[in-house]
Amino acid sequence: MSARILIVDDVPANVRLLEAKLAAEYYETASARDGFEALAKARTWRPDVILLDVMMPGMDGFECCRQLKEDPATRDSPVVMVTALGEPSERLRGLEVGADDFLTKPPEHETLLARVRSLVRLKRLLDEVLARGDTARALGLSDTMVVNPSVQGARALIVDDWDVSAGSILNALAQEGIVTVRARTGGDAMALTTQESFDLIAISLSLAAEDGLKLVTALRGGSRTHETPLLLLAEPEARKQVVRGFELGATDWLTLPIDENELRVRARNQIRRKLFQDRLRSNLGSALEMALLDALTGLYNQRYLASHLSGLVEQSQGRPLAVLMVDADHFKRVNDQFGHAVGDRALRLIADTLRANTRAFDSLARYGGEEFVVVMPGTDLADARMVADRLRDAVQNAVMEATPGVPVPLTVSIGIGCTFGEMITPEELLHRADTALYAAKRGGRNRVELAVLSPLT
Ligand code: GH3
Ligand code: MG
Ligand code: MG
Repeated sequence: MSARILIVDDVPANVRLLEAKLAAEYYETASARDGFEALAKARTWRPDVILLDVMMPGMDGFECCRQLKEDPATRDSPVVMVTALGEPSERLRGLEVGADDFLTKPPEHETLLARVRSLVRLKRLLDEVLARGDTARALGLSDTMVVNPSVQGARALIVDDWDVSAGSILNALAQEGIVTVRARTGGDAMALTTQESFDLIAISLSLAAEDGLKLVTALRGGSRTHETPLLLLAEPEARKQVVRGFELGATDWLTLPIDENELRVRARNQIRRKLFQDRLRSNLGSALEMALLDALTGLYNQRYLASHLSGLVEQSQGRPLAVLMVDADHFKRVNDQFGHAVGDRALRLIADTLRANTRAFDSLARYGGEEFVVVMPGTDLADARMVADRLRDAVQNAVMEATPGVPVPLTVSIGIGCTFGEMITPEELLHRADTALYAAKRGGRNRVELAVLSPLT
């Protein structure tokens, strides 16, 4: 996922170091050498994440962060404060001025990338929540979607057999108004998750009698916990285990002994992310929205798509935005051979397959009879191609039967349209995808094609 990172530091060598690391991961970077320049750039360039040095002459990082968080034009960009080694008091001050996360100087490579990746994702979710809110308002729905980032009343599960660290976690989360339940073993934790749902699960990797990573796997496989943020708590020496934990689906980690302020920001981010995700997955979440949803598939309808897409195009300013036009192949034959009711079921299956293979901040709409549109903010052509191939493959492999034992073969053709933030109307973007779709159909169906990026005639 491409994203913009603003690096603020008065020492040019520090800037270059971070720039090199981020550029190697294909992030777009810009830099500012003091707080004033940072405020100006944040307003015009609209970064997805700001890496902010604390010690700077003139305006220090704390003051800069405070002003960033006060200005509606910049407050939604997550700020990572880059602090000197081991200064809990600096973290507390950072927390008070609204910092979203911390990094210790000099940032260690993997930690830097994990932090940036996690915050970019949070920013994308927030952008989408805001954009859908705007769309709903534009379509005449009143504020059904006020962004409420409060984590008060959220529920967390702590899996730790050590009273000292469990106590310190409890204390930190209580300060955010998070309600905490504690388990001493993986077995107890699993039992608790079947009884109630949690917004965050923190797992110690220093459990005396068992391997915390087994619990990560079990939770990821659980139907109530497969999307719950999992925060690993590990000794600094347990890096290998942490990396393995990420592979198994953990979302973030903290080193033991716990820095309570760091835990607070980390927990806050993870829970907000879950709340945004839940909200996006349940679409807009009110009866009025039925007017914007397609009755057969539950996806957005064309009316919603048109309005939402124009909002996204307007906001994309120099960022990529991809649109997939997905059309069922030879669908008339499905109806002719198996009947209309089976056809309807097939359309629902295709819709579910698209939903299961896209991100919460992508928008899915039923565009016409057997035609669907996927809108992917922040996605360039290469990533769009990957997603399209995955979707095409998933539909081909989805199992659909007319009656038991009678398979209904389903495939889709997909056209990709993409903008890099150039001046383009939503209609043009859709037209690009549609032209590519036509090429995919002509090319034999069950294929993905890219739009040729030439001016329209
Ligand atoms: P192609 O591969 O070129 O897209 O062929 P196709 O048969 O899919 O395309 P065509 O546009 O000729 O036919 C679309 C078919 O989709 C015709 C219509 O009956 C069917 N269809 C459209 N909406 C619905 C629906 O809501 N339910 C069902 N069961 N079928 C639908
Ligand atoms: Mg078709
Ligand atoms: Mg069609």
